[in-house]
Amino acid sequence: MAGKLFEKKLLEFARRGNIERVRWLENINKHILPSHVKRILRKDKTVLQELVLPKWVTWDLLYDWALTQKKEKGRLCVLCDEYSEVGIEYNNKFICEYCFLKLKNLK
Ligand SMILES: [Zn+2]
Repeated sequence: MAGKLFEKKLLEFARRGNIERVRWLENINKHILPSHVKRILRKDKTVLQELVLPKWVTWDLLYDWALTQKKEKGRLCVLCDEYSEVGIEYNNKFICEYCFLKLKNLK
């Protein structure tokens, strides 16, 4: 479920009294721009090279949080950057039906 890992980590750090990490997580949207969120949702890991993240922030944690930021239904297409509920998974990335059909017609 979206946000579950994020919540778990937040609680874990709070319990350990690791205020710095709790604060960072609570303000995560100040560190990560909406354009970055979109790329995270597309599983574009090159975004990690542009973000300045503490070492303890893992990709899974980031992705889990990004899912909670998603307002539109469906998944983000890697080609057109739009959300869609129908499409295919290719190399662990989502391609919407529209783009998929477009690609198919090119061949
Ligand atoms: Zn698309």
